[in-house]
Formats: sequence, structure tokens, C-alpha cells
Amino acid sequence: MLIDTHCHLDFPIFDSWRDQALAQARAAGVGAIVVPGVTAEDWGRVLVLTTTRPEGIRLYPALGLHPCFMSEHRPEHLTRLAQLVSEHRSELVAIGEIGLDFQIEDYDAAAQTELLCDQLQIAREAELPVLLHVRKAHDQTLKLLRQLRLPRAGIVHAFSGSEQQAREYAKLGFKLGFGGAISYPRATRLRRLAAELPLEWLVLETDAPDMPLSRWRDEPNQPVRVAEVVRIIAELRKMEIEQVAQQTCSNALALLALA
Ligand SMILES: [Zn+2]
Repeated sequence: MLIDTHCHLDFPIFDSWRDQALAQARAAGVGAIVVPGVTAEDWGRVLVLTTTRPEGIRLYPALGLHPCFMSEHRPEHLTRLAQLVSEHRSELVAIGEIGLDFQIEDYDAAAQTELLCDQLQIAREAELPVLLHVRKAHDQTLKLLRQLRLPRAGIVHAFSGSEQQAREYAKLGFKLGFGGAISYPRATRLRRLAAELPLEWLVLETDAPDMPLSRWRDEPNQPVRVAEVVRIIAELRKMEIEQVAQQTCSNALALLALA
């Protein structure tokens, strides 16, 4: 079985072909998809979508306030998040998507950091893992995670850091999400990491509809592509696809406690 640990299947872009995307994913062996919320406005949509039970594939919700949408977040959204987390504790598999993005234009580092800390606190109290979005801010994120140890760690989605940073995350119990970025020949550092890091640290993802793979760069990404991600990782590692699928799947199952 394959698990897409990060897929925005709730986004309206999927409205006209969501069932088709799910059927294709299922046919390619995808058995579970984690759907993270990015703004308070999306949370209801994520919760409703993930209660549907399409045959042969499980959808799991996570809720969070994403650092790329700072202008949409309000202080009361944090209160609402804490409330939803306690109401839906048994369905939620993580707090996310949350994090730090110091690559976007005119980012406010202090505001992002404060929002992340508040959400890490919610994750810690609920004993939930986190789904992290981190760009150009790995050291800052690691520093926060060391200060505020999370009992269940989480996933650094679309990992873009160095080998050293990967090691630091792993020390804290984090897994690293690998997706479409490794399909680009120019992504040499990332491809080397996908080839060389211990397989126990890796999980698969698509980040669909974003981050399309090189072969499908002009169309929206979709969860079936996790099958191509696992194929590329196996090729880079000179391993059997089945072996990579099995280990990354068990990494995700254990971390997220998927039932
Ligand atoms: Zn995402």
C-alpha cells in the first residue's frame, strides 16, 4: 500500500474530478491520503471530505493555519482550532499544515513564529503529531522544536533542507516528506538525500494539486502520482519499489497512528 501523507484534496480545483482522482489513486495502490487544512475557512470542508468513505481508500484530516496565508488568519482562529481539536480528537491525525516560510515576499518572521508556537502548543497538549511546511527556515524551526518537545513529533513536508538538518529532525523523531520535487533532474541535492537517507526517515507525499512531477508539470498534481514518487525513490536507491513502499508506509502508519 502507498500513503499520500500530504494532499490538498479538499481544494476546489478537485471539485469536478475528485472521484476520478481518487479512483485513479486507488487503482495505483494508494490506500490512504492525509488532507491538511490551511486556513480556518477550509477546516469544515476538510472535515466533511474526510468523513466520506470512498471504497478502498481512507481519507484522514489534519487542521492548521498555514504560514503562507498570514493575512487570512485571525486571533480567534487559534481558539477555534483548539476547540475543533478537542471536538474531533479521535478523527484528526495531526495538526497541520503549519510552519515557517521565509521564502515568500515580505514575510513577517515574528508573526509566523508566534503562530507556529501557539499551534505546536495545541499539538503538544492534544498529543498529536504536526505536518510542517518549512522553507528557508529549518534552523529556526528546529530551534523551536527543541524548546517545545512534541511527544509525537511529525512530518516535515516537501523536505528541502540539508543532510545535517534532516539528521536534526530525525533526532527529534520527525519523518521527512518526499514528493514531486525529486522528479526534476536539477534537484541534485534532494535526489541525493532521497537516495541516501535512512529509509526509516522517509514518507511519501504529492502536495497535490501543487508540486507536479516533471512529466506532468503543466497539469494539476494528483494523489495517483505518489506511485511515481515511490518509483523514483526506489530507482535512486537501487531498491525494489515494493520495499520502499512497504517501509515508507509503515513509517507513516506508525507516526500518524492511522487506523
Ligand atoms: Zn501543503
